[in-house]
Amino acid sequence: MPPRFSKERCNGCPKAKVAPCEAICPLNLLYRDRGEVFIYHEAFCYDCAACVKKCPQKAIYLALHPSVALVNAELFYDKGFKFKVLEEE
Ligand code: SF4
Ligand code: SF4
Repeated sequence: MPPRFSKERCNGCPKAKVAPCEAICPLNLLYRDRGEVFIYHEAFCYDCAACVKKCPQKAIYLALHPSVALVNAELFYDKGFKFKVLEEE
């Protein structure tokens, strides 16, 4: 599941030529447009959580499928990552 962005928290890093979240993504999936962050090709995101850790505003979290979250919850908590478990469809 791709990361989700909090519009309330993200300030668009206006002083940064390249925002921390854009710079850190190993696949260059993140980009800003008019102060908002978006993701190209969501399917390519492999939940590495680098962008989650790097955002100074704590505006990014991972949305995990329940089956993945159950396996990884401890790992994510240990590393201080924020995530939300999606509702089962
Ligand atoms: S690093 Fe965080 S605050 Fe800055 S543009 Fe990215 S999501 Fe927004
Ligand atoms: S979780 Fe990793 S791969 Fe996915 S957008 Fe963030 S930095 Fe890129």
